[in-house]
Amino acid sequence: MLVRGQGTRVWDADGKEYLDFGGGIAVNCLGHSHPALVRALQEQASQLIHVSNLFFHPKQAELAEELVQRTGPGKVFFCNSGAEANEAMVKAARKAGAAQGRFEIITTLNSFHGRTLGMIAASGQERLREGFGPAMPGFVHVPFNDLAAVEKAVGPRTAAVMIEGIQGEGGVIPASAGYLLGLRKLTHEKGIFLLMDAVQCGHYRTGCFQSYERILREAGEKRVFLPDAISMAKSLGGGFPIGAVWLGEKLMDVLGPGAHATTYGGTALACAVALEVLRIIRKENLPENVAERGEELKQGLRKMSGRGWVGEVRGFGGMVGVTVKGRPHAEVAAQLALAGLLVVPAGSDVLRFLPPYNVSKQEVAEALRKVETTL
Ligand code: PLP
Repeated sequence: MLVRGQGTRVWDADGKEYLDFGGGIAVNCLGHSHPALVRALQEQASQLIHVSNLFFHPKQAELAEELVQRTGPGKVFFCNSGAEANEAMVKAARKAGAAQGRFEIITTLNSFHGRTLGMIAASGQERLREGFGPAMPGFVHVPFNDLAAVEKAVGPRTAAVMIEGIQGEGGVIPASAGYLLGLRKLTHEKGIFLLMDAVQCGHYRTGCFQSYERILREAGEKRVFLPDAISMAKSLGGGFPIGAVWLGEKLMDVLGPGAHATTYGGTALACAVALEVLRIIRKENLPENVAERGEELKQGLRKMSGRGWVGEVRGFGGMVGVTVKGRPHAEVAAQLALAGLLVVPAGSDVLRFLPPYNVSKQEVAEALRKVETTL
C-alpha cells in the first residue's frame, strides 16, 4: 500500500522506501510530485477546472497545437484514457471506410489496446475476452512483426491496421523498422489506414516523441514515416488522467461535432497539466536523459543476462523488458519489491522497467544493485 511519492521514490504505509521503476505503469514520466507540475495543477485548479466541450478554452488548443507540431498536420481529439483514445481512433477509421463497406481492423496477436468491450475485442489476447462474450465483431488478429500475414489478411472489408510501436503489456516487443515501413507502404497501396497505439510507448518514453522515430533512427532509416492516426494517454498527463488521438489529414475531419464526444475530454485542468508535462520535458532535456539512462539500465541488465533469473533484455529508454528464466515473473517482481525496487510484470515471462524520464544515473545504478541482490 503506497502512500507517498517524491521523484523516483515511493513509500508504503509502513514507511518502507522503494525505487519506483513501475511508474504507475508507464504514466509517471516526471516521477512523483514534480514541484512545477504540482504548481501548474494547483494554479489551473484555482482558475478553471472544466467547462464542457460546448465551449472553447485556450489550454486545449495550445495542447493540440503542441501535439500536432510534434507529429504532423492533423487535428487532436481529447478524452480520458488510452482505451478511449483507441476507441476514437477505430471509430474514425470505421466512419471513413463506411461508404465503401470497410469496417474491419487488423490488429496483432499479443497486443493490448485497453479494457472497453471494443478494445478487448481489438486486443490480440484471448484471456481479456474470457467471460465477456460475445466479442464485438470487426477485428482480425495476425502475428506481430509479420508483414506477409497482414498482406494476406487485407480484404475488401478492411478499414485499417492498428499496432503498438512497441508491444507493452505483451512483453516489450518492438516493431522492426522493416515492418513499420512495410505496413506504411502496404496500407497506402490498399487505401486503408495505419493506426498506431502509442499509449504506452509514446510521449518520449523511448527518448523520441514516438517509438517509431526511435526504431527507425536505431535502424539508420531516414525515410519519412507518418501513420494516419496515433492514440496517446499515460505519460501525456504525467499521472493526471488524459487521453488524446492525433488524426492525420485523411482522418481529421471524419469525427465532426455530434459524431463523437466525451464530457470530460480535454478539461482545462487536464490540458494545463499535459502542457506543463511537455514544458518540463523540454526544459529539463528529458528525452536525452531517458535515452541515456535507458542505455545504462540495459547494459547493466545485459551484464547479468544468463545469471539467476535474468534472460533477454530489450526495449529503449524508459521502456526496458527483461525475460525471466526458471521462475514465475510475478514471484521475481515480488522479490524485487522486497529488495526495494518496483517493476511491472508483462506477458507471460517479462518484467518491465519503466522509470521516470528524469531518473538519475545514481538511481539506475541503485536499481541494478537491487536486481543483483535477487540473483
Ligand atoms: N493501449 C496500450 C498500448 C496500453 O498499454 C494500455 C494500457 O496499459 C491501453 C491502451 C489502455 O489504456 P487505459 O488503461 O488508459 O485505458
